[in-house]
Amino acid sequence: MSIHEDNETNSEYSMYSGNGSDNESDNESDNESDSGWDGGKIKFGIPNKEFMDIIESVNEIFPGSILEFDLIDLLGYIDISVEMEDEMRQALGIPNEVVRIRFMFDKGLKDIPNCNVLNGGEIQYQLNQAVLWVLQKHKNDARNILITLISTITDRIQYCGNYCPMCHQKHNYPGLKPVVCNNPLCYMQYTELGMGPNPETEIHNHPDICDLLINFTYIAANSHRAQDIMTPFPYRFIENGKKNIESVKKALDAFPSVEEMCEFKDLRNELDLLHPDAYYLLRWILSTNRCHLKAVENEDEYIKKQAGDLHFKKVFHIMHLPPEQQSAFQKRKANDGVVSLWHGSSSENWHNILRNSLKNYSGTKCQCNGNAYGSGVYLSFGHYTANGYSRCSSSARWSKSTMCGTDTRCLLLCNVIKDDKTKHGDIYVIPDEECIAMTHLFLC
Ligand SMILES: [Zn+2]
Repeated sequence: MSIHEDNETNSEYSMYSGNGSDNESDNESDNESDSGWDGGKIKFGIPNKEFMDIIESVNEIFPGSILEFDLIDLLGYIDISVEMEDEMRQALGIPNEVVRIRFMFDKGLKDIPNCNVLNGGEIQYQLNQAVLWVLQKHKNDARNILITLISTITDRIQYCGNYCPMCHQKHNYPGLKPVVCNNPLCYMQYTELGMGPNPETEIHNHPDICDLLINFTYIAANSHRAQDIMTPFPYRFIENGKKNIESVKKALDAFPSVEEMCEFKDLRNELDLLHPDAYYLLRWILSTNRCHLKAVENEDEYIKKQAGDLHFKKVFHIMHLPPEQQSAFQKRKANDGVVSLWHGSSSENWHNILRNSLKNYSGTKCQCNGNAYGSGVYLSFGHYTANGYSRCSSSARWSKSTMCGTDTRCLLLCNVIKDDKTKHGDIYVIPDEECIAMTHLFLC
């Protein structure tokens, strides 16, 4: 299994390159490389080339990472053979009396959106599950299990948005944030293990994003097209295979404002008192968003230039492409160039867009505008045209929102691979969704 290389020219993904000083981390690992067990951490001074190469790659991707394994957890998950345990111990140079080893990343990863870095850098999400998966899958593998394990874990961390963290199925649509697949059991396990974004933390750290996300779900649920556009749909509200939109609406109506939720001492308990499904639904809303959103505080020159005379209230930087798709996009950008285009969509559709990205919905139930120039995602060079598509839907608004009023519209600014064949006057019709990278979400 190869370790993927990050593309350094990939400026839109600078978060992935880490910000630690390379020199410092190199020195650190040099000093530690042959010091063995120090009572708390395993140092990797193992004369195994393949293994060391992997560790090196991990440190290149995530500078300054500290690697430890929690052997107790590993052994607890699966009935591991004595030989296998011996092999792991030997590979790591772990003395027999040492039973606790942890796999831990200290820094670097904390900059990756939504990676659930707990207690100074421990990644719970991918590791425990990926470890279990690898051990089960490679039980009888002749290869050194540890090498398989580390390379898989590295792959999972870097490409966590591509796999379901529970069953390790590859998603149909790769995303930036890790989300569970459509299997209700996966979602149940995911939340029961306390994985995914923590609503308490999200509400406190990103109240504006939470407000926006609740809004989008609220508007979608209240739309007459809710059955079609609420995809994915919270599993708890599926009854006899049917989406029970009315019960979602009831739970949403019980939500207090984000400001009030911030004041709660115990969010879960207080929401439970308001509605038995409110906490579940809040958590679901936050954990199914696959885009990384970040409010742009200072109007930057690019935004000013693109927006021109567009009146807007707020702008969010939006990232959704997983690293390998991003690097494929960068390659095409280098060859063909990109053009900045606008996409407008009715407010009821944003719940779907943030979870499935911009899709070519031509000819499907999700299509809500005409198809005059053929099948594809419709974008425009000027914001006026896109604005025409971003009309407010008639569905009810979340009255407790501080971010969106009754007349708030959303516009998306995208980088699109240049192709003159897709151009029809001011309108561009992009049949291949992979040619589109969303960059900014404007609230107007
Ligand atoms: Zn799954």
